Amino acid sequence: MSDEVPYYCSAEALWDVEGEEDVDLPVTNLTGGEDGPPDMALDPAWFWKNGEKIKVRFLDGSPVLQARVRTYAEEWEKYANIDFVFVTEGNASIRVRFKNPRDPKDKTTDSQLGTGAKKFVIDQNQPTMRLYSLNDDTKDDEVCRVVLHEFGHALGCVHEHQSLAAKIEWNEEQVFADAKKFYHWDKEKARNQIMKVNEQATLHSSFDPKSIMCYMIPPKWTKNGRGVKKNLTLSETDISFIRKAYPFRTRNAGRLSVVPEIRPIYPPLALNSKVIDFDPPYTATPRVVLGLTLLDASHETNVRVHLHTPSESERGKASFTLNLDAWADTKLYNAAATWLEFSRGEVEYEVGEYNTLDTRPNFRQPALPSPDNPGLRRDISHVDFRKGKYTSPPNILIWLTAFDFDNRYNWRVRAAAHNVTASGFDVVIESWGDTTLYSAAAEWVAYPKDQAGVLSGRVSSNDYRNWFPAQAGNQGKVRFAVPFERLNPKVFMALSELDMDSSRNLRVKVYADRVSSEGFTWHGDAWEDSLLYSVGADWIAFG
Ligand SMILES: [Zn+2]
Repeated sequence: MSDEVPYYCSAEALWDVEGEEDVDLPVTNLTGGEDGPPDMALDPAWFWKNGEKIKVRFLDGSPVLQARVRTYAEEWEKYANIDFVFVTEGNASIRVRFKNPRDPKDKTTDSQLGTGAKKFVIDQNQPTMRLYSLNDDTKDDEVCRVVLHEFGHALGCVHEHQSLAAKIEWNEEQVFADAKKFYHWDKEKARNQIMKVNEQATLHSSFDPKSIMCYMIPPKWTKNGRGVKKNLTLSETDISFIRKAYPFRTRNAGRLSVVPEIRPIYPPLALNSKVIDFDPPYTATPRVVLGLTLLDASHETNVRVHLHTPSESERGKASFTLNLDAWADTKLYNAAATWLEFSRGEVEYEVGEYNTLDTRPNFRQPALPSPDNPGLRRDISHVDFRKGKYTSPPNILIWLTAFDFDNRYNWRVRAAAHNVTASGFDVVIESWGDTTLYSAAAEWVAYPKDQAGVLSGRVSSNDYRNWFPAQAGNQGKVRFAVPFERLNPKVFMALSELDMDSSRNLRVKVYADRVSSEGFTWHGDAWEDSLLYSVGADWIAFG
């Protein structure tokens, strides 16, 4: 791949292409017809699960040629949350073959569309991608072009020149004649592979002649003599498209701090909000799960904080508003939050929230003591998962998003999942001792225990020390049960438990550092004169 390739196929430049460039006719095409999907719509059904590890196996080819294909295929991974796992044995969803064993002259180059590979080619000895035009002598830019294009199909991308936006005025007779001459295609196949407009391909807003998914079009194939040059690398539109189709989870930092991103620490203001752009935007409003990671509030008044975002129906695909608010006379100096984003397609994940005001609207009336432990007072909300969602009890992560504490008593709160079964669980928010917790809220995520590429857990200072005496710095090492294959998983962590002395300001933060494929170090810290008896956090890691 090189930068000196002339990319002047933008709309204007494209129309200036003159004369007949005696360049190769397109060799790439999409498997259709008998053994493929009849219409190559951008139906989400053809997309792999976001984050999926897709096994790829070569059925033949020299190690050098295989390595070249692998290199260019992996170019897509920079922009798509997809992991091509190249295997040498065992079952693989994508199988690549370089030679037609029955016809060595066959130059067919094609691929099944997306998950069609699993549906339409069952035999593990048969290819889902045929790269018969490539061999050890093929030039690099040609290998790059063909591999990017065919792996684009394998990811679910359709032909750009067949998109609704292309509006190409074909010189049909010429296309038919050349298709017959060069490919031995009949009229129907020429129409299907080259000229037929894909009505459902609506994700591209405008025609991108630079797309790797666009055929080279000789000028004589169009009525107005406007052609499309051969594209050798991913265009900006290809990149933005694939990033939308397979978004990396929480592409942004997943972190917002009131100070300094919204305002200085002084004076403390109650209402703090910021619009966070999803980068890139989603194709449908994603679900967002929030958690508090840092608080700095005065002990002179009750501590009331609420981290929230508008409900899903009031949010958009491109951004969301994060609010870190206090109310009444609370002095909130600083607060910070993290969040997780789950696209609609990530159906394995269920998310939700619970505010104790939903079950105990009269917040002055204390929560009921726990029958099994009278020292604990609990607010409980039962969650039913969607029917048939999980076949065994899922993992659950819970993050605190709000609380309203009386400042005359110590601040103690804990959120946890109890009685987890395949059909549901109880969100439990509890306090203990003489604490007066008027209200609190938490958000949760559930996902199958065997979900690939994600791990979660809970850490607490209670795991290794007594609550007394208070200690400002708390930390520990977390070792992943199974190391991640990629070097640096993303770790998100927020408060799930807190016990602090109300004679000092409430200053606490939780975070993870030294993240590696093996694990990370967690921290739960207070600062200045704050007294931190215990602190706990739930974490989730994606790799
Ligand atoms: Zn193609």
